Amino acid sequence: FSKRLGPGLFSYYQDSMNTAAQKRLTLENQLAHAIERDELSVRYQPQFNLETGQLSGLEALLRWHNLLLGAVSPLEFIPLAEEDGLIVGIGEWVLRTVCGQAAFWIQQGLWLPRIGINVSVKQVMKPNFVALVLQVLADTGLAPDRLELEVTESLLALDILQIHEALHALRKVGISIAIDDFGTGYSSLSRLKSMPIDSLKVDREFICGIAGSADDRSIVTAIISMAEAMSLRVVAEGVESASQADFLKELGCQEVQGFFYGLPMAPDEVESLLPRTVAGRS
Ligand code: C2E
Ligand code: MG
Ligand code: MG
Ligand code: MG
Repeated sequence: FSKRLGPGLFSYYQDSMNTAAQKRLTLENQLAHAIERDELSVRYQPQFNLETGQLSGLEALLRWHNLLLGAVSPLEFIPLAEEDGLIVGIGEWVLRTVCGQAAFWIQQGLWLPRIGINVSVKQVMKPNFVALVLQVLADTGLAPDRLELEVTESLLALDILQIHEALHALRKVGISIAIDDFGTGYSSLSRLKSMPIDSLKVDREFICGIAGSADDRSIVTAIISMAEAMSLRVVAEGVESASQADFLKELGCQEVQGFFYGLPMAPDEVESLLPRTVAGRS
């Protein structure tokens, strides 16, 4: 094999294979220490009510900045963390950090909208997941009705009793459940009806196609009217332009999130968006 390709080529292929494997190994090794090295942080992206223009929610988005690797996208490290189980510890860190931050804002006399946290299937599948969430709320003093957990459609598609029970238990105490990236997974409509959920987040892919694809416009229209029929709140993700916003408004889409309305922001930037309540101390 090496003779046929010639020594130079062989070592080239070997090196490039090593590079991919090594990068992954480096990522995993570094990620394993991210919490203790204080490399994780959270950004918050605003969501708005399309009709009133008011802030309706914040989505917490994890950020990782590593000394060797620089900023690594969650699209890159979350799937890895899910595979090797690190997501459980990282997810707990996110939960504590975000609930703590939210409770702090309320303590400061700021009004807080619903705050969304992404959770992975691996986390929800842990037998102690519900207890952990309740414990974090108790520890931080955040009211459960401020919290929304975003799960993916694939979690519903699994159709596992334990997951249904966990979601029911969370909703029973007032926590909301959102289906993230809706429309890209395989959840059947009949299953959706039986799921303990409060809202749908229309995947960015369809919003992106509003201007150029009649199919995407039909899909967005169908999801919004279905959500309405099922009394689910609906949030359009990844809104980047005024024309997308106009289309969504005409359809009666309730809420929007995207670069057109606001980028993911550091906590101190978020504060300027939060109105002060009467009870607040300054
Ligand atoms: P997601 O939950 O669907 O989050 C929305 C993603 O879209 C975010 O990417 C956000 O920055 C990006 N986004 C928002 N508005 C726009 C827009 O107008 N245009 C474009 N092009 N993008 C927009 P981000 O922060 O890179 O996160 C990617 C994914 O990583 C998230 O997708 C979520 O699945 C996952 N993720 C992020 N934080 C966490 C976390 O704490 N836990 C878990 N399990 N997953 C997380
Ligand atoms: Mg999300
Ligand atoms: Mg999403
Ligand atoms: Mg997504």
